[in-house]
Amino acid sequence: MNRYVIGNWKSNTDRAGALQLARAVNGVERGDVQVGIAPPFVWLDAIRSEFGDTETWLGAQTCSPNGQGAFTGEVTATMVSELCDFVLVGHSERRVHFGETNEIVRAKLNQALGAALVPVICVGETIRERDAGEAETTVGRQLGAALGDLATDQSAMIIAYEPVWAIGTGHAATVADASSMCRFIHMQVRNLMGRPLPVLYGGSVSSDNASDLIAATCIDGFLVGGASLRVADFAEIIGAAIVTPNQ
Ligand code: PEP
Repeated sequence: MNRYVIGNWKSNTDRAGALQLARAVNGVERGDVQVGIAPPFVWLDAIRSEFGDTETWLGAQTCSPNGQGAFTGEVTATMVSELCDFVLVGHSERRVHFGETNEIVRAKLNQALGAALVPVICVGETIRERDAGEAETTVGRQLGAALGDLATDQSAMIIAYEPVWAIGTGHAATVADASSMCRFIHMQVRNLMGRPLPVLYGGSVSSDNASDLIAATCIDGFLVGGASLRVADFAEIIGAAIVTPNQ
C-alpha cells in the first residue's frame, strides 16, 4: 500500500504565506510518499498556477454536497476538480461546527467521486464515545454511511482515522489505540468495498511521534493539521513515512 502525508491548513495563512509554504512543501524530499496539501479555497488557484502539474497533490478542505445551482457560498466538487486532486470529506471540525451529518458526508462523497476527485474520508469518535466503549460502533457507522453500496466503485479513495479528542490537542492517540482502530477500519472497508483502501491516522501528529505511529503496519500515512503549517516539522513527518529498503 502506498503511503500518504496530507497537510490540512484549515483557516490559516495569508496569500503570500500560503504560496511560500506551498513552495517549501513542494521542495521536500518525499521518496515514494504521496504528499498533499489542503490550503484554504481562496489560495488554490494561485498555488495551482505556481505548481503546474507537480507531484504534490493539491486538495480542498471540503466541497458542497450539491451540484451547481442556487447555493450561495458553496463550492462544488466540479469547481474544486478544476484545481485539485483530492478533497477532505467529513472532517470532524465540519461535523462538529457545521452540523455535517453522515448523510451530508455521503452526499459530499458522491459529489467528489462524480467529479473524479480523490476523497479523503475522515472518521473518528469523540472522547465521550471512546470512554463509553463506543469508538468502534461510531467509526463503523460513519464508514457504513459513507461506503455502503459503493462496492462496485473502483475510484481511488482514502480513509483518515482522526479521533476528535486528538485533533489540535497535542495528545495523539497511543500507537496501540491508533493501530487497533486502523486495523478495525481496514477490516470494515474490506467488508464494505471488497477491496482495501489506504487508512491514514490524524490527530496531533508531530515530528516526535510520526516514526512510532508509522511503524504500525496498518497505518498508511498521516493527515496533519498544525504541524503541516511548519515546513520543517511537516518535512520530518514526511521523512518518517518514507519506506526504507528493509522496512
Ligand atoms: C486535522 O485537522 O486533520 C488534524 C489532524 O489536526 P492536528 O494535526 O492539528 O491535530
